[in-house]
Amino acid sequence: MAEAEKTIVSNFIRNIIDADLAAGKHTSIRTRFPPEPNGYLHFGHAKSICLNFGLARDYGGACHLRFDDTNPEKEEQEYVDSIVDAVRWLGWDWGANQFYASNYFQTMYDCAEALINAGLAYVDSQTAEEMRTNRGTLTEAGKPSPYRNRTPQENLDLFRRMKAGEFPDGAHVLRAKIDMASPNINLRDPAIYRIRHATHHNTGDTWCLYPMYTYAHPIEDAIERITHSICTLEFEDQRPFYDWLLDKLADLGCLPRPLPQQIEFARLNLTYVVLSKRKLIQLVDEKHVNGWDDPRLPTLVGARRRGYTAEGFRKFAEMIGVTKSDSLIDYSIFEECQRDVLNETALRRIAVLDPLKLVIDNYPAGQEEECLAPNHPQQPELGKRPVPFSGELWIEREDFVEVPPKGYFRLFPGNKVRLRYGFVIECTGCDKDENGNIVAVHCNYFADSKSGTPGADTYKVKGNIHWLSAQHAYAAEVRLYDRLFKVPNPGAEHDFLDDINPDSVKTITAQLEPALKDAAAEERFQFERHGYFVADRVDSQPGKPVFNRAVTLKDNWQK
Ligand code: ATP
Ligand code: MG
Repeated sequence: MAEAEKTIVSNFIRNIIDADLAAGKHTSIRTRFPPEPNGYLHFGHAKSICLNFGLARDYGGACHLRFDDTNPEKEEQEYVDSIVDAVRWLGWDWGANQFYASNYFQTMYDCAEALINAGLAYVDSQTAEEMRTNRGTLTEAGKPSPYRNRTPQENLDLFRRMKAGEFPDGAHVLRAKIDMASPNINLRDPAIYRIRHATHHNTGDTWCLYPMYTYAHPIEDAIERITHSICTLEFEDQRPFYDWLLDKLADLGCLPRPLPQQIEFARLNLTYVVLSKRKLIQLVDEKHVNGWDDPRLPTLVGARRRGYTAEGFRKFAEMIGVTKSDSLIDYSIFEECQRDVLNETALRRIAVLDPLKLVIDNYPAGQEEECLAPNHPQQPELGKRPVPFSGELWIEREDFVEVPPKGYFRLFPGNKVRLRYGFVIECTGCDKDENGNIVAVHCNYFADSKSGTPGADTYKVKGNIHWLSAQHAYAAEVRLYDRLFKVPNPGAEHDFLDDINPDSVKTITAQLEPALKDAAAEERFQFERHGYFVADRVDSQPGKPVFNRAVTLKDNWQK
């Protein structure tokens, strides 16, 4: 990753790490990004990814990619593959540090037996309903299970028979033995193992006993020698159990010290999108969008097709930072980060999105010539390219009016404008069809006004419009995206599906400059005056790219 990207801003997590390193608690740091492979990654995950991998980069440590695949029913290889792709696309590298929680099942099981032998876990045979009732409430202590005082031998025997498949799902659970009266409900003997006769994508039918997430996760962290286990705020109440469990297991010699420390930060919430897996799945399954990589979805595969840049994501993550309090970030801040990156990196090209013919009546019939357009106005070293010019051009329909409103400096009869990188013209009128629609605009050009030739700048005009030679330009599919939701906080007032914007994509046939024909999939451009576009990586064909607009040049959603 480029050095230039690193403008390190301190935050509470860095302060913790600095203190730990200063105190000699660790000599280097190790973080992890632990997705559950049960869905596609979204913008919220990108925040967590950039945070964890960014810390490892800045402190010269390591960050693991760990698939938290302890749940047998929901996980699929398709998700594993897409997660690997997405994290790589974001620009991060984990070397050999790719792990699967399911590879630790045996260690987790051994830890459970150790807890049983130490009198720190027991098999409970209450029904789920009884367990719920006896757990108590925020104001009332829980009631001990009648099975709480089973001996270690009894527990071990039952636990081994659970593992051997002697009991049906739900017959027993293994619980940590902590404190049924704890004010923190998570410490009232949480379940740590349940029976589930299910096939696991990695371990197959080896197990019919699976660890609970809250039990598995701390052990995974400790096995991998994670130093700082960073998660979102909803796990704050779980931290006492995280610490209890690891401390007991370290005392029992099952896990090494120093132990990982859990640190919580506020998850990313963004206006105009939904970042809940459940809602994203619903949008895809119910076909409100065209699959996980629909450019309107806030998934990372969608973002990539949309033309957003990985660098823009990293910049956004740096900009919003990490805090301990929940906030809602305005989507326009994300877009601004993308614009900054795209402005620097995208070559300029010309596209006419709503074409109207412009006829230059005094341009010699059959003549054509070249004009030179800069590839990037702020980076002259990127050179200029020839853009063909002729007597019939395409211009934007909105660049001509018969009767100009106040302050309109573009084409209207009697007015002069510069055709950007070309000539100054003077408008003489327009043609209409039988319904009164304007079908062509007429003008004369000034042969000595060509941009870049001596004396051309003696022509002073206020308007400057883009154009393409009609015989050289080509028609192509272009998609203009709008927000997927109409309101800043979808679902706040009613079902989030009712907040879907019915006009979130407009597919048009635009006229593009010839140079765009050879655009490779995922190549990004600024179409002058229209925004940043990418050649769609799915629908583009060689010689026939389809373009998606990532973002407009300015934030015009505010209007
Ligand atoms: P699930 O409800 O399935 O657990 P999840 O969004 O938490 O959904 P995970 O795969 O468990 O999905 O998430 C992987 C990591 O990404 C976790 O560490 C989680 O805290 C983090 N993460 C998820 N959503 C956000 C978000 N909106 N902002 C920041 N981090 C997030
Ligand atoms: Mg999760």
